[in-house]
Amino acid sequence: MRVTRFAPSPTGPLHLGHAYAALVAEGRARAVGGRFLLRIEDIDRARSRIEYEKLIYDDLSWIGIRWDGPVLRQSDRLQVYAAALETLGSRGLLYPCRCTRGDIRAALSAPQEGAPIVGPDGLVYPGTCRGRRYADRQDDDALRLDMRAAIAALGGASAVAALGFTETGPIHPGHHALDPDHLMEGIGDVVLARRDMGTSYHLAVVVDDADQGVTEVTRGVDLFEATPLHRLLQALLGLPVPDWHHHDLIRDAAGKRLAKRDDARAIAAYRAAGETPAQVRARVGVQ
Ligand code: GLU
Repeated sequence: MRVTRFAPSPTGPLHLGHAYAALVAEGRARAVGGRFLLRIEDIDRARSRIEYEKLIYDDLSWIGIRWDGPVLRQSDRLQVYAAALETLGSRGLLYPCRCTRGDIRAALSAPQEGAPIVGPDGLVYPGTCRGRRYADRQDDDALRLDMRAAIAALGGASAVAALGFTETGPIHPGHHALDPDHLMEGIGDVVLARRDMGTSYHLAVVVDDADQGVTEVTRGVDLFEATPLHRLLQALLGLPVPDWHHHDLIRDAAGKRLAKRDDARAIAAYRAAGETPAQVRARVGVQ
């Protein structure tokens, strides 16, 4: 049975882009008699607000979206993420880091470094803290994945190149093999536990999709480039591998991607202005 999910962060009102993402995910499930789940991605405690979480339930219900089963809230699952981190750390795949963004930019501007590469997690980390040991971590350290060690733990480059994932979305359809060189150079030693959160989007999303039994990860195409990392984490943690369905992003008339803070496009604003759910659905092209 196909299981999809919508996973918003309650850091602002839902806008038309979220309505589209939720309708695509629900539609993909309903089309084949599957299940559609809702997850609240609220690990960023500084930016998440309970008012926005309530607004998510109100807006989705108003549009006519129905989710199956209980809502999963990431802030309730910090111990689950800690256990996954311990699994990786005890195998020598994590190291503590306290570099700031400024430290990273400074290290990357050294003459021997080439042009900085931006991966799914920002600037590809130059490896400054790689010699530090997981066992020596402090409470306020971030934890980074040692990508080289991770590839070795999976049996080396050729074993990793034999891993891949299936994309069912319209933009990058088909099978995608993992590319160990890209994992090393284009993604690198990403943060899996931020010092202020104790986890990260990348870790939480793979653990949660597995625990919720998601079989098709439906989300915006801006996250397509994070998918090889997610597939690698699934392999490292022994998790089931879903398919992915990355959809296009809703843009404004000027072609700019709608940001959550773009309140003018908030679903709540259309509601307040007297539009009907059918009119809002029509705005994103889903009936
Ligand atoms: N929480 C993410 C967002 O609000 C979505 C993550 C996902 O679907 O994997 O954009």
